[in-house]
Amino acid sequence: MNSTLITNAQIVYPGKKIALGQLLLTAGRIAAIDPAPAAIPAGTTRIDAGGRCLTPGLIDLHTHGIGHHLYEASPKDLLAGLAFAARFGTTGVLPTLYRIMNRPSLPLLATLSQTLDQVRGVSVPGWHLEGPFLKLPGAGADTIPGDVGLLNEVLAATGGRTRAMSISPDTPNIIPVIERLVEEAIVPFITHTHASTEETERAIDAGARHATHFYNVFPIPAVTEPGVRPCGAVEAILADPRCAVDFICDGVHVPPVAVRAALAAKGHAGVILITDSNIGAGLPDGIYPTTFGFPVKVSAGNAARIHDPANKNHGGLAGSALTMNVGIANLHRWLKIPSEQIWAMGTANPARLMGLATKGVIAVGADADVVLWNADFTATHTWVAGELVYTAS
Ligand SMILES: [Zn+2]
Repeated sequence: MNSTLITNAQIVYPGKKIALGQLLLTAGRIAAIDPAPAAIPAGTTRIDAGGRCLTPGLIDLHTHGIGHHLYEASPKDLLAGLAFAARFGTTGVLPTLYRIMNRPSLPLLATLSQTLDQVRGVSVPGWHLEGPFLKLPGAGADTIPGDVGLLNEVLAATGGRTRAMSISPDTPNIIPVIERLVEEAIVPFITHTHASTEETERAIDAGARHATHFYNVFPIPAVTEPGVRPCGAVEAILADPRCAVDFICDGVHVPPVAVRAALAAKGHAGVILITDSNIGAGLPDGIYPTTFGFPVKVSAGNAARIHDPANKNHGGLAGSALTMNVGIANLHRWLKIPSEQIWAMGTANPARLMGLATKGVIAVGADADVVLWNADFTATHTWVAGELVYTAS
């Protein structure tokens, strides 16, 4: 039985505290915290953390790709992209699909779903399907009315591997879709919407429990009465304690004040970090080819941008190049709250939303998905199910 003892670590208990201690990982689980010497199996690998932070691994609920890979492009891209996650301290991913939830693409969706069984080195609880029942296209997402028949075909193609689906409250016939998702224990996320407050509340009443890339593709409602600031989906979601929110924390997609406003409304447990990452994320500064019809330019502290002088959208946003660890670093700069509450936004909070009881926490019996960090939020060691899957050289 494979055991690892991590000593001399500042252990982060997300949302709770940080305390110096030791963690014993055995057979894929956290076997003990500060074990007595007699409880440490013979042959245990010892790693001195040197006072570094040890946290549960980061969990990304919304990411379309990373490095050179778009997850939905092919099984090869899916596996190669997911293999890139651990170096950023990400141990859990809901790969997010957005253009293949239609009848012609169902065979590809089924093939990709079966490919998830081959993933190693990162935990994939299942898909996040961003669409197809969305109102506003954003970066090319499908926008079709709610259709429970198509939904059933999509869910069948994924073979029970769908964990979240993004919908818009203002899409026609969306309530039966939300109800069907709830029946299947799939978490409905709200996004890509200019819903009214009433439409948003109806979606939450039906079971929507989260808003993803909050503020992005949530346009401001039109002013109909001079002097009266209109309210819409953003205000309805902020006001409803049943709903959590997530943000692309790259400093480009959302101003930090929006994250602080959500923190004031929801508390730290109701705010989640995502990347919404795409081709270019995690790569050095440069210009990279994509399958979108244009190359993207990635530069430090910025998003991926369209790099094609002949394209009228040259220089425009082409998705996020954020990695989870950089998002955590940004949140530490933006928010004046205890560090353990910030770490929760990338660990315990997404796990709780998705009902992953053994993830995102440091507790005996929890999954041994943990990460050791340098002070600059780069990962030095990443373990998934107790296996060391990444070490900084
Ligand atoms: Zn989107």
